[in-house]
Amino acid sequence: MTPGARPQQPPLPSPLALVRPDLLDFTGYSSSRTSYAATAREASDPEPSIWLNANESGTAHPADPEGRSRRYPEPQPVELVSALATTYGVHVDQVVAGRGSDELIDILVRTMCRPGQDGVVISSPTFGMYAVSASLHGVPVTDVPAADLGSSWAVDVDAVAAATRSAGARLVFLANPGNPTGSVVPPADLARLAEAIAYQAVLVVDEAYAEYSNGPSAVTMLADHPTLVVLRTLSKAHGLAAARVGCALADPGLTALLRAVLPPYPLAAPAVGLAVAALDPSHAPEVARATAAVLADRDRLRAALQADPRVRTTYGSETNFVLVRCTDADDLLTSLRAAGIVVRDMRHLPGLDDALRVTVGAPAEVDAVVERLKAPDEDGRAPSVRTR
Ligand SMILES: *Cc1c(COP(=O)(O)O)cnc(C)c1O
Repeated sequence: MTPGARPQQPPLPSPLALVRPDLLDFTGYSSSRTSYAATAREASDPEPSIWLNANESGTAHPADPEGRSRRYPEPQPVELVSALATTYGVHVDQVVAGRGSDELIDILVRTMCRPGQDGVVISSPTFGMYAVSASLHGVPVTDVPAADLGSSWAVDVDAVAAATRSAGARLVFLANPGNPTGSVVPPADLARLAEAIAYQAVLVVDEAYAEYSNGPSAVTMLADHPTLVVLRTLSKAHGLAAARVGCALADPGLTALLRAVLPPYPLAAPAVGLAVAALDPSHAPEVARATAAVLADRDRLRAALQADPRVRTTYGSETNFVLVRCTDADDLLTSLRAAGIVVRDMRHLPGLDDALRVTVGAPAEVDAVVERLKAPDEDGRAPSVRTR
């Protein structure tokens, strides 16, 4: 090799080689925003000041006297995209914002998979929206169940890679940390999976609970793995579930296509305003403090659940919830409900026919659960012999 010459690297795989071929030159709906941005203008034209291209009302509504919601919003609000990029440590070109990660899951399925042909691979038990979006789009789902190790779960990434190839899948969804498992996939396994399927499918790592985990974010892998997509949300640790704001972080070529597939104005202006305000760095210490409090309470909640005679086993968790298996789930549910406490019944899921999932709420809410587990019911009988 001549001095200074770089060793030849094989070209990185491209996610655009995996998208629906009929969408490759799809530009989406031409909204008032996008069509104006595409018009040719004379250099001598003034900055426009009278906007009559979108049939919006010229009058503010009395409930919105400053007219903040009078006009259609930006499809991808610059301030929000830039705040998300800063928060997650990526370039703005790598961000697609949507109505929660839920919308991005749906958009990914529609962008990558031809109905009735290309499949999706999941590893159960997992988040229900992957299969819901796949079904709605007519896309087959292949499940490679995770192994129950007793107090955690393990995704078999080599089996997932093999299933992805044999099913001809175009998308793999992994929640990491997992919901409802609470477990994480080791970073080396994730990298091996991304590598193994790079010419077959896009790997989506859904990091809804990343703030509660010790592990590194898969965002750090994006540079080396262009066929990786990371999903983040403001619904969990940021405490803004009702704002419906989440994002996909991915290769710029793929994000451009995902933006075209999204509906024209997906993000409501009041939600965008709230999200931008929430992502101001001045709030980061408070969000971190609340997240740390959840971690401490998670241990306390798990210990109290584990000590209850109606609980057979509890799983470790890198999330804001605890998954438990019960000897008598009905009795536990009834007793909690009688104290006004609602937890998630997971027994409809295959392999979880004795399981409940309990969110680590506010400290006082965790107190209420712990007290209820300790206290015998009002009728004085011990919980384990209580009749329904
Ligand atoms: C809660 C949850 C989401 C939901 O995200 P939104 O941004 O509220 O749509 C996504 N993925 C997983 C695994 C979740 O548990």
